Amino acid sequence: MTQTIGFIGLGNMGLPMATNLINAGYTVLGFDTNEASNEKFVAIGGTAIADVAQLIAKSTVILTSLPTPQVVSAVYRGPQGIIQTANKGTIIVDFSTVNPQLNDELYVEAQQAELHYLGAPVSGGVIGAIKATLTIMVGGDSEIHQQITTIFNTLGKNIYHLGTSPSIGTRIKLLNNLMIGFYTEAVAETIVLGEQMGIEADVLFEVLSNSYGQSRIFERNYLEYMKNNDYNPGFTTNLLLKDLKLAKEMAQQVGVPLPIGDKLVDLYSTISDEGFGDNDMAASYLSLKNKTKIEQL
Ligand code: NAD
Repeated sequence: MTQTIGFIGLGNMGLPMATNLINAGYTVLGFDTNEASNEKFVAIGGTAIADVAQLIAKSTVILTSLPTPQVVSAVYRGPQGIIQTANKGTIIVDFSTVNPQLNDELYVEAQQAELHYLGAPVSGGVIGAIKATLTIMVGGDSEIHQQITTIFNTLGKNIYHLGTSPSIGTRIKLLNNLMIGFYTEAVAETIVLGEQMGIEADVLFEVLSNSYGQSRIFERNYLEYMKNNDYNPGFTTNLLLKDLKLAKEMAQQVGVPLPIGDKLVDLYSTISDEGFGDNDMAASYLSLKNKTKIEQL
């Protein structure tokens, strides 16, 4: 049967992912509550559907890339939602980063409605979504994963089916983002401190890139954002904060203290409150810079 893909959530990640599917020849229907996102989707050759229920009814595969667990829950469980209205046998894949319990619950609710659900958070950022180099961390039934591997391969480079637990991908994704929280603040503190001592940021970046301080987040945050003084996201501070809170909740459930993780939740809450919530997370550098004495030593 020919697949018709419905893509719900055409934001920083969803739009380039949907674009790659269209470019690969798939029929893709799109829906976003933000009209500007729908317009961008139409501009790249997609078919925007104004009524989400219609999109759900017409799709054999539904993909979602939504901001928060609350939004995901509403889109799946609402009266016009996927679980209520999708045709039996539809495959649904959530690429959003949510709490593991939500993946597990949606799997069961989908199964009761004779739908097939996979939890499949992604890593690799907007660049990875554009270049189709995402890492996709899939949890759920192997046969369903097999049925849509060509879709996954169109979107990413490293596709991991991690087991039949629908939340296993999310658990690993949240561990990844816990590390991203550490690194992002480490980069900000390092560059601000270096600059304050009169060391050029480019020099610091070059030398540390060839030392153990190197990290992918250093490359990403410095080269894509800080060096260009452009903090258009990317991955927003607010999304990072959401994921750190989810990681903290996950750690509490298994009794693991996160001494630095706890501090990071407070730190990024402050950075968000300072007005950097909708900026890329690399703006933690700006936050620290604002608190630093401007005078040179
Ligand atoms: P985003 O805010 O840019 O995109 C989310 C989109 O969902 C927006 O266009 C928004 O209008 C739309 N939306 C909100 N409510 C909706 C609804 N009820 N129905 C339909 N559309 C709705 O966020 P993003 O950066 O694209 O991230 C999406 C998900 O992917 C998040 O869970 C995020 O944590 C995760 N993620 C993001 C990145 C990144 O680098 N940006 C990387 C990996 C994972």
